[in-house]
Amino acid sequence: MDEDSDMPLLCHRCGCDLTPGEGNFYVVRIEALADPTPPRYDEDEFARWTAEEIDAEINSLLDEMKHLSEQEMMDQVYRRLTIHLCGRCYRRWIENPAGG
Ligand SMILES: [Zn+2]
Repeated sequence: MDEDSDMPLLCHRCGCDLTPGEGNFYVVRIEALADPTPPRYDEDEFARWTAEEIDAEINSLLDEMKHLSEQEMMDQVYRRLTIHLCGRCYRRWIENPAGG
């Protein structure tokens, strides 16, 4: 699972060397999930759709998806990444995680 275990560990922000076992860095796991709420249709409107209109809607969705690779589709819905931060960068980052 940890595919970069052979790579030297570097701080994601400042690039300094991190030494496993010395307790001087943090592993930050970020999970990003697209809004998991299913799209809501106006039921009255949906009931007025003909079978052809529903077919056309499905086809246009499929058509859009054809342009995306499986990976791209996954990326749109779910991303998970792991970054390493040295203690100094971590303490700055955790105060403002969304600030870049
Ligand atoms: Zn750093």
